[in-house]
Amino acid sequence: MKRAYNFNAGPAALPLAVLEKANAEWLNIFGSGMSVMELSHRSKEYEQIHAKAQNLLRELMNIPEHYEVLFLQGGASLQFSMVPMNLLPKDQVAYYVLTGAWSDKALKEAKKVGKTKVAASSKEDNYTYIPPIEEIQLGEDAAYLHITSNNTIYGTQWKVFPTSSTVPIVADMSSDILSKKIDVSSFGLIYAGAQKNLGPSGVTVVIIRKDLINNSLSELPTMLNYETHAKNNSLYNTPPTMAIYLLSLVLEWVKEQGGVEAIEKINEQKAKVLYKMIDESEGFYKGHALPDSRSHMNVTFTLPNEELTKKFLSQAKEEGFVGLSGHRSIGGCRASIYNAVPLEHCERLAEFMETFRIKNNLLLKK
Ligand SMILES: *Cc1c(COP(=O)(O)O)cnc(C)c1O
Repeated sequence: MKRAYNFNAGPAALPLAVLEKANAEWLNIFGSGMSVMELSHRSKEYEQIHAKAQNLLRELMNIPEHYEVLFLQGGASLQFSMVPMNLLPKDQVAYYVLTGAWSDKALKEAKKVGKTKVAASSKEDNYTYIPPIEEIQLGEDAAYLHITSNNTIYGTQWKVFPTSSTVPIVADMSSDILSKKIDVSSFGLIYAGAQKNLGPSGVTVVIIRKDLINNSLSELPTMLNYETHAKNNSLYNTPPTMAIYLLSLVLEWVKEQGGVEAIEKINEQKAKVLYKMIDESEGFYKGHALPDSRSHMNVTFTLPNEELTKKFLSQAKEEGFVGLSGHRSIGGCRASIYNAVPLEHCERLAEFMETFRIKNNLLLKK
């Protein structure tokens, strides 16, 4: 069977080895005579899967003991609300750095909960870069600073993170978690929907410093209170067992690849192959992001005109490339090259881009 060259933005490619393992265990996991979806979430078998996913994530990301690892539902989008509901007291202000559509949405939800301020923004420049950290202004009133570590739609990524000894940094890492080494201890809270780098949709990982779990928020809906999930080891209600199972397999796969450091190296190579193609195309392909802010996860680019973009996308499709249209809000093209996308697929895409450019550049010049 021929697998697609999958450049989907999310849900996205999963490692073939993970799908094969899941397939082999599909009807009978651990000799139970049941599929993973049919196990009780209170069973020994499921407990083992749950613990494996938590432990592997702790190991791979080097998560310190004083952080809780939670598996929640509602996507990264529910975290846009849960973060301010749990971390923003009435008399304080939540600061947001605006670097794209997702940070805009996060801010919009926080505004419904309490006071907010924009700490820095690249909105005026169509989100082509990450604002320099020196520009970020935090007041005495800051409850937390929210950033989006990788901007899936615009294709920009933070290279250096802001730090603060007093204000917790909250990061939406949905589209670059586990793609490179980070220092978890410089964040108060990290959240990520699984469907880009961690597994299928349906589970959201939240990594929260234990002292930020507020145990006096009894007025909050039980399910929206981090304390509920922390106290119950993310088993307060039925967790998305199948998604957590696949997450555990993806984490195992990352470990087999040599861990995050090895993955980071491959990711750098993958991004380089595509950006090099863009930079050496004599202006045929133009990157959306400024070079300093380029994402290693989402490569966004445009072609000389709308007609060529359409032609590029339709020919790419014929060649087996999937998911290359840019997000409807910025148009153009986007190749999402998350952890599970092999280097070889990026090389195939670069070759296709080169061939397409040579053919069509000649036509343009005629
Ligand atoms: C995909 C994405 C989201 C939305 O995630 P859902 O799980 O669909 O809610 C939020 N933030 C970023 C950075 C994303 O890439």
